[in-house]
Amino acid sequence: MIDYKAEMEKLIKELNIHIHNYYVLDKPTISDFEYDQMYDKLVGLERESGIVLPSSPTLRVGGEPLTGFKKFEHVVPLYSLDKCQNFEELKSWVNGIKKEFKDSTFSVEYKFDGLSIVVEYENGLFIKAGTRGNGQVGEDVSAQVKTIKSVPLSIPFKGRLVVQGEGMITLSNLEKYNKTATEPLKNARNAVAGAIRNLNPKETAKRKLDLFAYSVNYIEGKNFKTQSEMNKFLIENGFKTANFFKICKSCEEIISEIENVGKIKSGLDILMDGVVIKVNEIESREEIGYTTKFPKWAIAYKFEPEEISTKLEDVVWQVGRTGKLTPIALISPVKLAGATISRATLNNLGDIERKGVKIGARVFVRRSNEVIPEILGLAEDCPNSKEIVAPKSCPSCGGNLSEVGANLFCMNIDCPKQIKDSIVHFCSKEAMDIEGISEKTIDLFYEKFGLKKISDIYDLTYDQLLELDKFKEKKAKNVINSIEKSKNVSLSCFIYALGIKNVGTKTAKDLAANFKTFKSLSSASLDELLKIRDIGEIVAKSIYDYFNNLNSREEIERLFEKGIKIVEAQNLKESYFTNKKVVLTGSLNSYSRLQATKLLEENGAIVLSSVSKNTDLVIYGSEPGSKLEKAKKLGVETIAEEEFLKLLKK
Ligand code: AMP
Ligand code: ZN
Repeated sequence: MIDYKAEMEKLIKELNIHIHNYYVLDKPTISDFEYDQMYDKLVGLERESGIVLPSSPTLRVGGEPLTGFKKFEHVVPLYSLDKCQNFEELKSWVNGIKKEFKDSTFSVEYKFDGLSIVVEYENGLFIKAGTRGNGQVGEDVSAQVKTIKSVPLSIPFKGRLVVQGEGMITLSNLEKYNKTATEPLKNARNAVAGAIRNLNPKETAKRKLDLFAYSVNYIEGKNFKTQSEMNKFLIENGFKTANFFKICKSCEEIISEIENVGKIKSGLDILMDGVVIKVNEIESREEIGYTTKFPKWAIAYKFEPEEISTKLEDVVWQVGRTGKLTPIALISPVKLAGATISRATLNNLGDIERKGVKIGARVFVRRSNEVIPEILGLAEDCPNSKEIVAPKSCPSCGGNLSEVGANLFCMNIDCPKQIKDSIVHFCSKEAMDIEGISEKTIDLFYEKFGLKKISDIYDLTYDQLLELDKFKEKKAKNVINSIEKSKNVSLSCFIYALGIKNVGTKTAKDLAANFKTFKSLSSASLDELLKIRDIGEIVAKSIYDYFNNLNSREEIERLFEKGIKIVEAQNLKESYFTNKKVVLTGSLNSYSRLQATKLLEENGAIVLSSVSKNTDLVIYGSEPGSKLEKAKKLGVETIAEEEFLKLLKK
């Protein structure tokens, strides 16, 4: 007879190690295939024996839907956190503590922005889990929390244990989920709350949540001396903790950690809204004590939010140079990541439908780094909200619109906004680099001289420019010179300047590097285009369509007639950089980023913005960022600015 229990125990132990490696340590040790085989074997044994052991991973799939939530009484009440929003407030809190406990140290941790969850263990086994609720009583969400793979079902510690952590969803998992979801989720915090407070645990399992543990609220027969010790215990017992945990001695050290976190936070795959600073020594904590709401031994430093809800006042539609209409949300002004914003993009018609946002309703807005603020989704509808209706004609010229995929396009080739924007694009730095021509100047040119197409730029004369109020002799001369100079252009800049749909600077560079001459690019077949790495069907088709359109062919011919000369790849200098994929990082003393890029390209390099294993060379200036580290890790050649300058001269 098979000893089912022993067989199953062995399998469970092994499976749980792999789950821990994968979901807690991010270091998978076996293939999915091998894991599935073992898992299926366990399922078979459980079916045959009719026994499911308490730490079996098969318990994680989420059982039958529940009819309601049971109460969950907290063993130790949960507190909120006191908050500060500037370093002054932080300083006075630290000084207050130091006055009585002068040798205090402080732990600095992420303030996770998810859902607070408490998990209880007994005899080394997961017993139950609950939400915070009012701090005394929450909701029992054991079935839901069991589906979270980073919550261990069995742990080495055998006494009674209550652990607190934050239920989270990584931003990348949220994106993946939203790609196929019929109802996309608005933001990470809501995604977690919705998943945990879902009566169908199978739904929770689908969201692929994480739990970051940060506190032991109760432990039987053991006393921790410090938060560090507690953190170590959590890790040793298989919990996932933040990969950021610092101990600081002074307020200066704390501030410098906060500043570091501030720099990296928008690149993190999780939502966090600040840091939590706690007195590290547990003994002092008891003496420092609590208010009715929060512990006096901890404080949260909150960053300015990157995400907030506000009222959607109206939507206006903007035409771009390709004729694409972009819906712009006009919102009640809000402060986000250091700026007051009143406009945000809604991307396209399809996006509006998917997100279900309405005029008058509250919506979530997100702005991180320098990215254009974006409407994430509906926060709360209101009774008299209005549907957003797509325009029937072009808001700029009144021309006919056509729906292509999720987007609307103005079909009028004489649409003034399209013409003006495509000329602006043509003149821009990364394109023909014609200096002294701003968007306003193009407006003027359009009004006064009736420019209709990009090639008309080359018909402008010095005398014409002088007719304009804003132009004095010197400025007119400079602009005319710059227009003249632009006629000698690199292949990639010229391709980009044409303003082909879906062709940005990177694609333009890829095309130049692969086709070498303008002629072979313009006569390329779809198949030839598709062969290029990173060029997919949509992009290939827009390039192909562009070169096979009579209007664009005529315009290209006109440009060449005006004297455009492409510095073809063959004419480039043979150099150390020829055909190398180069990435720049840090600030260079000798050249601006753009100048250095152009120089490298003239020397045959392909300049890219991010480091991968395909990168050949990384050139670094002062204060290089993570790109240099990554390059070193990947074994990519790196050189400093001085070396770069030497090699250029060769
Ligand atoms: P608040 O709800 O804004 O008063 O903040 C308190 C909440 O912050 C707690 O209930 C936790 O859910 C959450 N939190 C996030 N990260 C931490 C952390 N590292 N330590 C303690 N609490 C945290
Ligand atoms: Zn139009």
